Amino acid sequence: MSSNINSIAVLGAGTMGAGIAALAADKDCKVLLLDISDEAAQKGKDSMISERNPMLSDPSKINNVETGTFENDFELIKNYDWICEVVVEKLDIKRQIFEKIEKYRKDGSIVSSNTSGIPLRDITENMPDRLLEDVCITHFFNPVKVMKLCELIPGEKTKPEILDNLSIFLQDIMNKGVVNAKDTVNFIGNRIGCFLILKGLHQGKKAREVGLIQEEIDGLMSRPIGLPPTGLYGLVDLIGLDVMYSVGKNLAINLPKDDQGLIYVNLPTEEQNMFDSGQLGRKTGGGFYRMQKLDNGEKKKEVFDLSNLEWRDAKKISIDGDLNMMLEDTEQGNYLWQVMGSTLAYAADLIPEIADDILNIDRAMRWGFAWSKGPFEMLDEIGPNNFINKIKENNISIPKMLQTLDESENDTFYKDGKYLTKDGNYLEI
Ligand code: NAD
Repeated sequence: MSSNINSIAVLGAGTMGAGIAALAADKDCKVLLLDISDEAAQKGKDSMISERNPMLSDPSKINNVETGTFENDFELIKNYDWICEVVVEKLDIKRQIFEKIEKYRKDGSIVSSNTSGIPLRDITENMPDRLLEDVCITHFFNPVKVMKLCELIPGEKTKPEILDNLSIFLQDIMNKGVVNAKDTVNFIGNRIGCFLILKGLHQGKKAREVGLIQEEIDGLMSRPIGLPPTGLYGLVDLIGLDVMYSVGKNLAINLPKDDQGLIYVNLPTEEQNMFDSGQLGRKTGGGFYRMQKLDNGEKKKEVFDLSNLEWRDAKKISIDGDLNMMLEDTEQGNYLWQVMGSTLAYAADLIPEIADDILNIDRAMRWGFAWSKGPFEMLDEIGPNNFINKIKENNISIPKMLQTLDESENDTFYKDGKYLTKDGNYLEI
């Protein structure tokens, strides 16, 4: 089967809009890129061939991109097969754009939003069936060119052929790894990834009290357990504390009432003070870390020590170990158990709420967060039964998928090219 999408209208020419438009243009699609002003749209187009970080692999493909404004050029979307909304993360603005899309688009065109976490049902509430049948969320990750993941989320009335068509286009033309998610808050990657980050920050306070320093936490939360080298604090610097603050607010409103993540939706006091004073991360010249230029031209890395709120030289800490450290009764092991262990348990409890199977969860974390293994692959490395024993020792209830594994008397989530389903059977991958 092949996709019949040949053209895409991207509405919003910021970081993500420009990235999506560039990827499509690179693959010889006809692209329309609109924004609130000609300057904003042109800036997005220019960023595709910027010298520092070009999004296009072939600069001549920029000729596939036409720009315009929402005010003057909206009706041009009638010539496009897929209309992808990528404006700011504000519900009222997205709804206004969707109303205009429905007014101008041609029959059968596909409509999607790139929202990071606003439910599709809120964006499309009270909109006509004609739109509801053709709409979904396509959640790309930043930078679009690099990150393999695109989460695909249907609404209640989305026609299956729309999803099939888009899925084929995303995989075969855009080279993305498509993960099927559901219309639940933050979908898959950000639901699990943000739980890890927010719990990691909260647990960081307790870790400091027993003598762990932030660099040690980053040393633990990276290579030893198969996470990217930024670790925890380095990752928040990259994302921005402002984004984490907004993520927390969105989770507070939209998480189910009994979700464990609700405990961590507010930033810890020290991080909240950093947010209030505008110390947000790389985008403000420093967050938990900053680079200082010395008189001799060299650079030195400093850390904002949360135990006394002062900058000091950052220590280089490299830790040998693996995921099994979380089973050890040491300060480092306890931190990993509290943060990574509870994230694995959290993920194992989210089927079928956020995904129908372990494959979609593992792929989302590998392709969207650059984990070397997904949560269930990690559990297999630790040995699910070792993990269950530790949970029992701590008197925590056993998460759904671990219970399924336990009751079906299996000992791994993956076996001989098959994966364990929520019914306790193995299916071919
Ligand atoms: P951005 O700020 O870079 O771009 C947003 C665009 O929206 C800008 O071009 C801006 O001109 C336009 N805009 C601002 N006010 C508007 C208005 N009133 N009406 C219409 N357009 C307006 O943001 P971004 O990072 O590209 O994010 C866009 C969407 O993608 C958001 O929904 C965001 O949650 C989502 N997203 C972002 C990331 C990320 O890492 N940046 C990752 C995945 C998804």
